Amino acid sequence: MTKTTILAVDDDRAVLASVERDLRQKYGRDYRIVKAESGAAALDVINELKRRSETVALFVVDQRMPQMTGVEFLERANGVFPDARKVLLTAYADTEAAISAINDVDLDYYLMKPWDPPHEHLYPVLDGLLDDWRSNVRLPFEGIRVVGAMWSSASHEIKDFLARSSIPYRWLDVERDEEARRLMAAHAGDTLEVPLLLFPDGEVLVQPTSQEVAEKAGLRTRAENPFYDVIIVGSGPAGLSAAVYASADGLKVLVVEQHAPGGQAGNSPKIENFLGFPSGISGGDLTRRAVTQAKRFGAEVLTAQSVEGLRVEGNTKIVTLGDGSEVSAKMVLISTGAWFRLLELSGIEKWNGAGVYYGAAHTEAANYKDTDVVVVGAANSAAQGMLFLSKYARKVTVLIRGSEPTWSKYLDVAIRANEKIDLVFNTELLEISGDQQIEAVSVKNKQSGESTVLPAKAAFVFIGQKPQSDFLGDLVMRTASGHILTGLDLVTSGERPPGWELDRDPLLLETSVPGVFAGGDVRNGTKHGVAAATGDGNAAVSNFWQYLSTI
Ligand SMILES: Cc1cc2nc3c(=O)[nH]c(=O)nc-3n(C[C@H](O)[C@H](O)[C@H](O)COP(=O)(O)OP(=O)(O)OC[C@H]3O[C@@H](n4cnc5c(N)ncnc54)[C@H](O)[C@@H]3O)c2cc1C
Repeated sequence: MTKTTILAVDDDRAVLASVERDLRQKYGRDYRIVKAESGAAALDVINELKRRSETVALFVVDQRMPQMTGVEFLERANGVFPDARKVLLTAYADTEAAISAINDVDLDYYLMKPWDPPHEHLYPVLDGLLDDWRSNVRLPFEGIRVVGAMWSSASHEIKDFLARSSIPYRWLDVERDEEARRLMAAHAGDTLEVPLLLFPDGEVLVQPTSQEVAEKAGLRTRAENPFYDVIIVGSGPAGLSAAVYASADGLKVLVVEQHAPGGQAGNSPKIENFLGFPSGISGGDLTRRAVTQAKRFGAEVLTAQSVEGLRVEGNTKIVTLGDGSEVSAKMVLISTGAWFRLLELSGIEKWNGAGVYYGAAHTEAANYKDTDVVVVGAANSAAQGMLFLSKYARKVTVLIRGSEPTWSKYLDVAIRANEKIDLVFNTELLEISGDQQIEAVSVKNKQSGESTVLPAKAAFVFIGQKPQSDFLGDLVMRTASGHILTGLDLVTSGERPPGWELDRDPLLLETSVPGVFAGGDVRNGTKHGVAAATGDGNAAVSNFWQYLSTI
């Protein structure tokens, strides 16, 4: 099989030789290392590779080259191999150019010369980038085929589950694709039972649940043991962070996730405000890294398995899972986050997951190429969603209830510069209409009362977040909105919560039940966001140790 290429470009022969040597030493077995002494020579190389239908995984390019700078080369290379990861080699004086290249050419990293020793400064960066590339690139397809339809919310759910679990799949739409119709006829007869999943070993699943798909794909859905030190419910940033720190500390950890890992963050096309990632990181990549890290330290991660109930017997916490089984632990962390409420419009059920999507819905964006779509919402999540959708859609109309958006400045700058995005203020969504698929939405201006009909093929909704805590019933104290109270929120006028028998106040993240903790967006009073959630995950682990020292 032809090896994928890593291309090094530098006009300084000595530097180029040393880049080549370092690359060959670590990556020579799996990749073909190619070098070029100028931007022009490098363009010849990539055009030839393209002609031969080969792929480039990574460009390592010097910024200071006489005829064509590194950034200029990367700009042109982007048109040929847009998925390749891009590293710019810079001198201290080129830092400004490198930082602006993050936006201009989607630069992944800039590396200050010299980078010795490579195992400290070069390889960790390149390992991460090659890992990301491998997970996102579309290589010749050997994986699962999903035959489905745009009007089927079950198809959307399965695609979302596969994508979020980093399982490659190929989407075949029965309404657009001849091969899809042929496969349907062969495996499902005249029925329109979609989705149909065809696995490389020949097995076909018709309308499977996420759990069936997870099991077939080799993901863990059942706990190995009956008893753990801590069970973490939910694997967004809060749960995964707690899993990493707790298992690194030697605790026996079980993470239970109802869907695929990542939570809301897993829906983010690009998280740009998380410390240490100046070029941003996609929620998918962040999740994959965190899950790998947690597993490496020994945490068990179940997917497609929900927690349906929690009860306490003495010091033991017993968790009931969606398949009816039970698992116990000394402690439980609730990190179930929040999700968007379904729109309350007449006839909306027909469209949920089949034209109306909640969250960024990466998997669907490409299906709306060159069409008009609407986005509902004005917070950071909506901002990221519209920027992502604008890569595909012809026009993105954004319905904003108030007169100002609440998204961050860095997103505002990108949105205002984007010609495809149209912001409509003081407006609410009234109705969604269409026959087999959405054709239009009716909106109303709240100030003038005037209604308008806008053409739209899909609506992406980012409003009405609700904490996911209903499965707890009355076990722990919650606010009217469903956020879980912890720590000193539970102590009013020196009074500890009803039923609290310990001779101490609840710990920072402890709920009204000793040994049951809450962190991240589901907890009352947190600042929503990835950093706050991962911070809670870390703080929860120090609370675990404090709690363990008292029982
Ligand atoms: C599209 C989008 C973009 C965003 N972009 C950014 C950004 O750029 N920067 C930033 O700081 N923040 C961003 N946010 C917000 C950020 O993602 C959230 O604040 C963060 O993910 C909260 O983490 P969490 O772990 O508390 O909960 P969540 O991320 O909500 O994760 C909770 C997890 O718990 C699971 N779960 C729920 N109930 C159960 C149950 N009963 N059993 C088992 N599992 C359960 C859910 O399936 C989910 O996976 C974005 C949010 C969205 C939606």
